[in-house]
Amino acid sequence: MNAEIVAVGTELLLGQIPNTNAQWISQKLATIGIPVYRHSVVGDNLERVKDTFQLAQSRSDLIVVTGGLGPTEDDLTRDAAKDVLNQDLMEDAVSMERIQMYYEKNNRTMTENNKKQALVLSGASVLQNDEGMAPGQIVEAAGKVWVFLPGVPSEMKMLMEQRVLPYFRNVFDLKSEIVSEMMRFIGIGESALEDELSDLIYEQKNPTLAPLASEGEVSLRLTATGESDQEAREKVASIKDAVLQRVGSYYYGSDEVAIESRVRDLLKEQGLTLGAAESLTGGRFIEKMISLPGASSVCQGSLVAYTPETKEQVIQVPNFIIKEFGTISYECAEVMALNAQHLLQADITVSFTGVAGPDPSEGHQPGNVFIGLQYCDEKPIVEHYYFDGSREKIRNRAVKKGYELLFH
Ligand code: ATP
Ligand code: MG
Repeated sequence: MNAEIVAVGTELLLGQIPNTNAQWISQKLATIGIPVYRHSVVGDNLERVKDTFQLAQSRSDLIVVTGGLGPTEDDLTRDAAKDVLNQDLMEDAVSMERIQMYYEKNNRTMTENNKKQALVLSGASVLQNDEGMAPGQIVEAAGKVWVFLPGVPSEMKMLMEQRVLPYFRNVFDLKSEIVSEMMRFIGIGESALEDELSDLIYEQKNPTLAPLASEGEVSLRLTATGESDQEAREKVASIKDAVLQRVGSYYYGSDEVAIESRVRDLLKEQGLTLGAAESLTGGRFIEKMISLPGASSVCQGSLVAYTPETKEQVIQVPNFIIKEFGTISYECAEVMALNAQHLLQADITVSFTGVAGPDPSEGHQPGNVFIGLQYCDEKPIVEHYYFDGSREKIRNRAVKKGYELLFH
């Protein structure tokens, strides 16, 4: 069985509103184990709505339509459905009464076009709409199930939750439960991860594994279905074990966990404190840590110094280093990390210096970043990176990299 969601509305095509209805309905269908294969969007044009419905009827078992059920000229869902599903439109007495009552209650006269909203397909189960006027409908036609819902998100959601999802559970005899987990990795690229796990990714149907790259890190979504929640959980747990055996050293947590919170926990466990010396990141590195609860037990602070002069004054970078090597250098990053350690009385310090762009600086192109790490009384290490992208992206990548170095 597979489902398609059709959203009707020219405003969606014009990009005036995002198609949040399709997103929300997809999530709901996933929780009861109905796979959505397609999202379609069509404007308020009778021929094109009919074409879209025809195609959906030919390729999908379950079609959920939202929008176009209102009273105006451009609300065409009913007319298109009537033609495609070969059914008559008839007035639903209960809906008509509710619409009339609505107008009486609000002391307004009902205009003729509002009657349109009480029209339903002759074979439909009518879903009364407590939030608005146009009812929803469920229609079975030629072996396919169609659901028509208003476009207004609150009305659509109410009808889905209260009427449609319980109906699906019954009619499709759904037993399956879905469990999914987002595993998060740092220090490995998307293609390297995919390479390590390619047999699991391409040969597994249940659970499925889907890698996803985001700024400076990679996620892997594990999704399993089972007849019970426990069965699905066990499937996810067993594939997670297999994944960890191969790429466990890059794994830092699942779902909502962020890398800085893992670093905070590691520092806490080891009783170590953190400090930073930041140039191009402008305090963003330490800000991430300080926004976490429990930061005070691990976080000493950060020295932010942007110009060469303030690097001298605030981080005590010797003048000869700036003169001889420049501020964008191994040497500067090293001394920044080292000095921050004693200035801030921190066990571990990270330093950031580089070019965020858009213009080059000291002869270096944007994206060149030096990150220093001073770990207790070990020899400091400095890494030179090249990050691609906008100023914002380069600064974020540098911050992420700083946490990656601390994690590993
Ligand atoms: P109404 O009775 O209000 O006319 P309708 O069923 O005709 O309802 P539309 O006119 O298509 O629905 O949409 C009403 C409003 O609902 C839109 O202006 C928009 O704000 C919102 N809406 C419609 N479709 C979507 C969608 N796919 N995603 C998010 N919001 C939507
Ligand atoms: Mg409308």
